[in-house]
Amino acid sequence: METTLLVSVILLNVVLLLVLGFLGFLIYKLLKDRQTPTTQAAPTTTANKPENNYHPEIQKRLEELKFSKVTTENIFCPYHPEEAGEVQCGICHKYFCARCVRPMKSIYFCKEHMALFLRSQWQEVLTLKTSSEDPEAGVRLFEKKQEVFKEKQLPSYVETHYKIDVEGDYIETYLVVFAQEDQIDEMRELLEI
Ligand SMILES: [Zn+2]
Ligand SMILES: [Zn+2]
Repeated sequence: METTLLVSVILLNVVLLLVLGFLGFLIYKLLKDRQTPTTQAAPTTTANKPENNYHPEIQKRLEELKFSKVTTENIFCPYHPEEAGEVQCGICHKYFCARCVRPMKSIYFCKEHMALFLRSQWQEVLTLKTSSEDPEAGVRLFEKKQEVFKEKQLPSYVETHYKIDVEGDYIETYLVVFAQEDQIDEMRELLEI
């Protein structure tokens, strides 16, 4: 009788151990499964990053955008969402595909602003001579010009003029800002840098 009891206890213990072992295995598997999606999630999101699926031109633009204050809305042509914005309009500063811009006086304009350019009278607002002492001055001027267009809808464009200094054997660069005749004074004040 005692032997039967002992055998039963041993058997029960073995069964208990098996059950515990199985439970432990289940818990381990559950925890492992829970962790797996998170470890897998990282590479998936990287792969899903839009940059990686873009056309090389767009990737190039994205790289450029990292260094400029241009927003990502300028990545695609506003008229052709499947085309990369390649050329910047001299007035609205948006990037358009090559089909949507036309050159004039070495500046590119979008359709809307080419029409504006042709029907308006333009006058010089200011001229900035770029110098090696302050190479950022030109950048600041362009930023101001963009800001004025964005916030006050006052159009302007910049011509780049070069002068060759024969004696000094160097090229001087001038940025000449033009605005509409009746907005000259306001623009002069706003573009003060
Ligand atoms: Zn434009
Ligand atoms: Zn286009």
